[in-house]
Amino acid sequence: MMNRLLTVLLGLALCAELVPNIARCQQQILPTKRGYQVLSYKLLLDWRPIFKNKNQRFSGVNEITVSTTQSEVVFDAMEMRIDSIKVSGVDVTPVPQPIGDTLIVPLGPPAPFPTPSTIKIYYTRTSATNDAMFYYPKRTYAGPGPVGDSVFTLEDLAYTMSEPLDAHKWMPCNDEPYYKANSAISVIVPRTYSAQSNGTLQSVDTNTDGSLQFNWVSDRPIATYLMCASASVWAEWRDYYHRISNPLDSVSVVYFAWPADYAATDTTGIAHNARYAFRNTPKMIAAFSKLFGEYPFLQYGQVPVQPFGYGGMEHQTMTTIDRSILHGTNEDVISHELFHQWFGDKTTCETWADIWLNEGFATFGEAIWEEAVNGESTYSHYVGQQAYGFFHPYAPRGDVNNIPTYNPPIANVFNDPTTYLKPGCMLHMLRRVLNDDTLFFNTLRDYSNAFAYTTANTWQFMDFVVPRAGALAPVNLNTFFNEWLFWPDWPVYKIGWKQSNGKLLVHVTQQQDSTHLYTMPLRFKAIAGQDTTLLMFVNDKQSQIFTATLSKPITRLVFDSEAVVLSQSTLAPDATLVDPTLGVQDGSTSEGFLRVDVAMGILKLSFAPIAGERGELQILDVLGRIIARRDVPSGAATLTLPMEELASGAYFVRLTDGAGEHTTRFQVEK
Ligand SMILES: [Zn+2]
Repeated sequence: MMNRLLTVLLGLALCAELVPNIARCQQQILPTKRGYQVLSYKLLLDWRPIFKNKNQRFSGVNEITVSTTQSEVVFDAMEMRIDSIKVSGVDVTPVPQPIGDTLIVPLGPPAPFPTPSTIKIYYTRTSATNDAMFYYPKRTYAGPGPVGDSVFTLEDLAYTMSEPLDAHKWMPCNDEPYYKANSAISVIVPRTYSAQSNGTLQSVDTNTDGSLQFNWVSDRPIATYLMCASASVWAEWRDYYHRISNPLDSVSVVYFAWPADYAATDTTGIAHNARYAFRNTPKMIAAFSKLFGEYPFLQYGQVPVQPFGYGGMEHQTMTTIDRSILHGTNEDVISHELFHQWFGDKTTCETWADIWLNEGFATFGEAIWEEAVNGESTYSHYVGQQAYGFFHPYAPRGDVNNIPTYNPPIANVFNDPTTYLKPGCMLHMLRRVLNDDTLFFNTLRDYSNAFAYTTANTWQFMDFVVPRAGALAPVNLNTFFNEWLFWPDWPVYKIGWKQSNGKLLVHVTQQQDSTHLYTMPLRFKAIAGQDTTLLMFVNDKQSQIFTATLSKPITRLVFDSEAVVLSQSTLAPDATLVDPTLGVQDGSTSEGFLRVDVAMGILKLSFAPIAGERGELQILDVLGRIIARRDVPSGAATLTLPMEELASGAYFVRLTDGAGEHTTRFQVEK
């Protein structure tokens, strides 16, 4: 699903990478399973009353085949009356009714081993509200158009929209993502209407009253939130995607649109032009198939609806999309929902705690399509826009960026910054960390195949990816996933740099307002005239000084120009930086020119006699801040300082005189 109708945000943002090994710090959310398995749904929706009475009430029959040892099964069902139930052809009396949002159907004595039962539930949807089942009559006001005009629906329209847990408001079912089952959906509509659902259309039957029954069958198991139906007066046309694995195998790409939207010829973004907006769909399928494995179903379709509360919804093989997309001004929603066919539909998040496995991937898929059609720099810019969107959440909708991506609070399951943008950027970061596109894409393709037509959870994803890709990563990938999926924040880097005597010093401190320490490879460009030197340091400490020997004086240091790290940063020259490799020593002493003894509340400094008129001694903390300063007379070779004012920790002492500058580190332990 896509929440946003994207406003293009300009801005360069930063995405990153990692190293040390953190124990997994998050409790896994396990699905609570019922004691049966749905083998199939065979659903008949009679939508003639919807169009006749112009409301959301209709009658239906759901024939659910389950396998169980239990004496009863619990389904999800609400906003409906149960008219009758037959179990293996025998009426259940009295007829069970939903209590709250569940329906309990007695089956008979428990079975010693899992036994199939066919439960045929005749029901009537009693709610006349737009809730999971939507109906809009022709000429409904749908909102403002692109030039300040008013947009109205062009035909009567009915459709379902169920994610995450609303399918049981239009059909009795077992409404959790981890219960995939086969499905066949038939929809009866008045003559001149047509109905769409998942899979492929098997037949259209004509009833004695002239109404039409469209019979669709899914070619793969499906989660209930991905099941759908829609109906209106449509123009229908199709295109073909020739499988990259077998060009002789043509996959139908079917499109629906209101006739005026089909006939439109304007391509300036003012009109709804369905043929123009959908024109690249087969190329998108080819681009994604090439990188992530062959398109996983027999057919793909797109149905534009309006009003719709979302940009699009990846109903399996039959995406529902907001009609405003037909302006054709961007393809983000089209590519997002299509990418879900691999990540979301073929491989479905096991629980809603794992929703990022759907939405983070689909968000990343938008950038992949940008790269396929416009090249690598557009890809980078697009990811930068996504990062910008993460740091500037859309406040009027209540989006926040300070909750973990894994297992968001239920009210934030579809929170754009953390369910979509952060994990989307994380996949980009993974790509950059691995720095090997073949390894990256093959790993994701293999993950998709390993969990094809079933579900995956966050742990399964990590356990799949880490052994395959971890050996080549510059940071520990378990740590990487831990940090980006389970922590609610992001790194904030303060970077100071100095070049002296041909050596570049880069001081990185992490300043995020938490105890979370991010481990990421940080990339820099050191620019000296026409020469650019690429540097990478793995930052795994709160404060860390990196050094590099450069042959030329640099004029500029650039951090993370490829927006690898989802971070906020400041970078500036810092003349006070001290080379930590000079005179580094363990404990309280150092050999050589400058010696520090820490004892009995006194710092005793010993050094070669001061040359020139006088010298200066400075004590610096690990951030390079001068916290004490003393003049040292000419010829002096020792100095003592009280150290009551120094807290425990690491410090530097720097001695400057006419002969040069010398620094060593010491430790205070109290
Ligand atoms: Zn989505």
